[in-house]
Amino acid sequence: MAVKSKKIFLDEKDIPRQWYNIQADLPEPLDPPYNVQAGRPATAEDFSAIFPPEIIKQELSAERFIDIPDEVIDAYKIWRPSPLVRATNLEKFLDTPAKIYFKNEGVSPSGSHKSNSAIAQAYYNKKAGVKRLATETGAGQWGSALSMACQMFGLECVVYMVKVSYEQKPYRKSLMQVYGAQVFASPSNQTEVGRKVLAENPNSEGSLGIAISEAIEDVVTHKDAKYSLGSVLNHVAMHQTVIGLEAKKQLEIAGDYPDIVIACLGGGSNFSGTAFPFLYDKLSGKVKNLKAIAVEPSACPKLSKGVLAYDYGDSSGFTPALKMYTLGHTFMPGGIHAGGLRYHGASPLVSALVKHNLVDPVTVRQKEVFEAAVTFARTEGILPAPESAHAIRVAITEALKAKEEGKSKTILFNLSGHGHFDLSAYDNYLSGKMQDYDYPSELVCESLKHLPKTK
Ligand SMILES: *Cc1c(COP(=O)(O)O)cnc(C)c1O
Repeated sequence: MAVKSKKIFLDEKDIPRQWYNIQADLPEPLDPPYNVQAGRPATAEDFSAIFPPEIIKQELSAERFIDIPDEVIDAYKIWRPSPLVRATNLEKFLDTPAKIYFKNEGVSPSGSHKSNSAIAQAYYNKKAGVKRLATETGAGQWGSALSMACQMFGLECVVYMVKVSYEQKPYRKSLMQVYGAQVFASPSNQTEVGRKVLAENPNSEGSLGIAISEAIEDVVTHKDAKYSLGSVLNHVAMHQTVIGLEAKKQLEIAGDYPDIVIACLGGGSNFSGTAFPFLYDKLSGKVKNLKAIAVEPSACPKLSKGVLAYDYGDSSGFTPALKMYTLGHTFMPGGIHAGGLRYHGASPLVSALVKHNLVDPVTVRQKEVFEAAVTFARTEGILPAPESAHAIRVAITEALKAKEEGKSKTILFNLSGHGHFDLSAYDNYLSGKMQDYDYPSELVCESLKHLPKTK
């Protein structure tokens, strides 16, 4: 029965008890990570210096459903289940026959979906006897999420924050410090890698790749320290599936099922979390016409313009190589405000699905993204994160297309986070000073010539 609610809530007891692991259902098994130095596929042991055993197991697992520990569910209860909202005001404003739903992950204490994996990772590290977690953060959302999670499970937290964001978003740093973390602007003078970058370019704005290199160096130079990554890897994508699993139940209550699922894509975690539980239905033949759209910034279009190849996850080549769509690990994207989308590669899982045409990548430009963000704020009242606004942009485009075609489509997008720390970006847009950045052109990037050699 269709229910005319604005928001669809679930009970705490409806928080999923298992994550969905799409590795079980891929058209072909993933190409494994590659240990470039050893000249062979990476093994669980290769990861043991930086990750605890349970995380490695999940990373390599092909089990379809993996139990969520009670301690993690208890922590999720702080903000989960998150609401599913019907964007009725936006629909009216667009005068569209389309139904637009969004999952609001901005209600988490850290302000984004990142807490879904941060909580799980902190838990497994604590269980393995780890004392210190080091990580990188771009826009600051992952750093905030991990800082809070570490505090909850009694771990020390060290965050290398991309310098351009550190300067643009000082209050993200403050929030991490409130949660008890140590925060450094990256490139920093804390590590060899950071010092080297600074020596070459003292004005370096930093990048996620450099910050990852610094965090990994921190881990190998400290006792009982491990590393934690907020996106890209399989276990992170899996932890995020609580988003889509809840959304499925909520849409069922509303008597709906999406024709189109949309999420922005930085490394791929919120896209994975939102779309994978629906793609499960498509992969198992239960639904036919589901369209899953991953939205990237035109400044950093790895799925649309990159190559599918083995590449490093960080800029210095410390990590095992991953088979993914990449612009090259030394690619430095233009300084767009959606810091969480300025990453050179895309999750191997999402990359595999793009290769098999199960996911459609779309690129959008910064100013049209902020136009959509402001429209959303003025209709639905919620200030979206610049990253999330990429999904809003495409949801609006699809809703207008439905209007043109005179079809009632059901659209679901993920509001991955709120934009309360991004007001300087909004100032930039409203003052008319915002610039668009485009990827120079296909394959001009030097770094693609330096892909690691694999057999
Ligand atoms: C980090 C972040 C993203 C991008 O990362 P994914 O791993 O691709 O999800 C998107 N939105 C918000 C709010 C983020 O914090």
